[in-house]
Amino acid sequence: MRVLVTGAAGFLGSHLADRFLNDGHQVVGLDNFSTGSRENLGELLERPGFTFVEHDISRPIVFAEPLDGVLHFASPASPVDYLEIPIQTLKVGSLGTHNCLGIAKAHGARFLLASTSEVYGDPQVHPQPESYWGHVNPVGVRGCYDEAKRFAEAITMAYHRYHGVDTRIVRIFNTYGTRMRPGDGRVVSNFIVQALRGEPLTVYGEGTQTRSFCHVSDEVEGIYRAFHSSLVEPVNIGNPSEFTIRELAEIVLRLTGSGAGIEWLPLPEDDPKVRQPDITLARRELGWEPRVGLEEGLRRTIPYFEALVRTRGAKSRTVSGD
Ligand code: UDP
Repeated sequence: MRVLVTGAAGFLGSHLADRFLNDGHQVVGLDNFSTGSRENLGELLERPGFTFVEHDISRPIVFAEPLDGVLHFASPASPVDYLEIPIQTLKVGSLGTHNCLGIAKAHGARFLLASTSEVYGDPQVHPQPESYWGHVNPVGVRGCYDEAKRFAEAITMAYHRYHGVDTRIVRIFNTYGTRMRPGDGRVVSNFIVQALRGEPLTVYGEGTQTRSFCHVSDEVEGIYRAFHSSLVEPVNIGNPSEFTIRELAEIVLRLTGSGAGIEWLPLPEDDPKVRQPDITLARRELGWEPRVGLEEGLRRTIPYFEALVRTRGAKSRTVSGD
């Protein structure tokens, strides 16, 4: 197969490209480096079967060579990023998804959308099954990401129903691992970088809000299986083990041996209070479930950030812009 991966210089996009290359497929990577990194791309460029196009997928592009799959992973995904570039976020989720669907239609290729647990907003159903329609504030600060992804799901289903495009939608829950940007502002990268620098871990609110963290190896395997399945309806891909943010801070402090402690900062607007995937559908239809627990996953991730802190003085980034 020859597949296009948008956001190939990003955290998930680059790991997904690797997954396809490992199985002998060819990958065309696309990125505009809005939030992707040239280091991630550097590792991919050394692999046979990988080619790269620098382009903003919010603008149309034509591919002359055949494609069997289009996987749309281009988008800012950290709240700190999408609060800073809300219009680009809306454009890549809407116009970018439209352009990707057009490419898939023109090539008769399968399309997979990287959707998100954010389509559930601040959920009133817990854990979240795919059948839950969500509780999103469209005009709040997170609306640019949440509504872009909800629109992306809607246009994906419209292309499926109206044009017969073969489509897949994965709803990705909080994921962590190597190749995350140290300063992307997400909680796992922030806490590890802060602990390694000996700075207090910035917990927002009382730290009682929960998230369920999936190691990137599990996440990518679930996405890869969803792409190769016949499941058109959206499917949750995430790890159901749920932790409070305060618990996460304590685990990171323990695993890094840091005595830096915690700094309490205000809770950002519309921050979801709970989040946990119901993965019954993925278990049944994809025969998939996560294998890597949080502590094991963090142990695999800490050395990556350690190298970046040591060699480049990598820093965390919080909602207040520090
Ligand atoms: N969070 C935190 N400190 C940080 C970064 C995030 O307490 O330095 C909290 C944030 O308020 C949220 C959770 O951690 O409740 C996850 O935040 P993240 O930015 O990773 O992604 P989200 O799940 O909100 O999209």
